[in-house]
Amino acid sequence: MKGEMRVGYGYDLHRLVQGHRLLLCGLEIEHEKGSAGHSDADVALHALIDALLGAAALGDIGRLFPDTDPQYKDADSIELLRQVVQLITDNGWQVGNVDITIIAERPRLAPHINTMRSKVAENLGILIEQVSVKAKTNERVDAIGREEAIAAHAIALINR
Ligand code: MG
Repeated sequence: MKGEMRVGYGYDLHRLVQGHRLLLCGLEIEHEKGSAGHSDADVALHALIDALLGAAALGDIGRLFPDTDPQYKDADSIELLRQVVQLITDNGWQVGNVDITIIAERPRLAPHINTMRSKVAENLGILIEQVSVKAKTNERVDAIGREEAIAAHAIALINR
């Protein structure tokens, strides 16, 4: 079908703990806590990867990069993203646009939004205008509001 479009959605959450780095969209952000996980725990890229895989109906991040597999210990999520872009490209798709929402009580992410957008755009092979990154707090409620966790949602449109 010519002009075929698909949309996909992704969600991820990681615990925030001391002694870990905080990586969001491949950018290391200075903070007293970081996200814990088997890989580098980049919650924004994990949501984005699941959105891309979901759009192409090619599974999910846990199936492609199992956290039981030692080769993904401390894995660079930018590298995982690049592999997923290659996979969806191999399946005949190109990325139209993506929209990511990060939910964190702290730190304030507004100063980093454009750097995150350009990092994502560069690794997806699209323009910064095709990448939206938004940040919000959780109004001090629940685990995110208590700064025990950080979460992200993403949607991606792909076409061929
Ligand atoms: Mg994750």
